[in-house]
Amino acid sequence: MQVCTIDALLAGGFDGHVECRELLRHGDFGLGTFDRLDGEMVVLDGIVYQIKADGSVTRPDLGLKTPFAAVCRFETTKTLEPDGGIDLKTFEGFLEACIPDRNVFCAIRLDGTFAEMTTRSVPAQDPPYPLLVDVAKKQSVFRFENIRGTIVGFRCPSFVQGINVPGYHLHFISDDRTRGGHILNFRLATGTCRIGLCHRFLLQLPESNRAFQDLDLSKDRSAELQTIER
Ligand SMILES: [Zn+2]
Repeated sequence: MQVCTIDALLAGGFDGHVECRELLRHGDFGLGTFDRLDGEMVVLDGIVYQIKADGSVTRPDLGLKTPFAAVCRFETTKTLEPDGGIDLKTFEGFLEACIPDRNVFCAIRLDGTFAEMTTRSVPAQDPPYPLLVDVAKKQSVFRFENIRGTIVGFRCPSFVQGINVPGYHLHFISDDRTRGGHILNFRLATGTCRIGLCHRFLLQLPESNRAFQDLDLSKDRSAELQTIER
């Protein structure tokens, strides 16, 4: 289940309209952001975590709303043992080779120890909202070493362009639930990767939000997306 579209978020659609409580009715695993773009979301084992721009990690009130999130009920289709030492790019190549099913959604969970993990988070915004690409210029970047934790994310098919992120979108949360964020890069020490393929897609759009209706979602924002995701 997905809340709104990535292009709406890129265009500054930061008003939350679906409660975290509702997200959990549709899945126990996923990622996203929060109302006013207040940090990065990780949903893991049915618990919602909020990683704010100051680096703090909390379990938000489930009444908190999200403008963009994607969740699924994680069911393991395949278990993989990636080599130690690999970075994000190599990991993506590894998954390309192991999971050729590129036209369905693929939930990715990697539990492991990371020699290095680099993440980011974004600060809450006030209306009138800027473009996401401009917020990303003020993102906080966090670098961790020798940290145990879990990668939570998705590989989406190319045809979701405009709706979600084609390719890989990964977030991180540490085992002790005190560190995390949107992954920029990592170097794995050891870990086990579980893959769950998803063949169904539900999109929830805002029901009564004038700001959403006024967003210009006709233009190609893929270049902006490239800038903010990496
Ligand atoms: Zn993200």
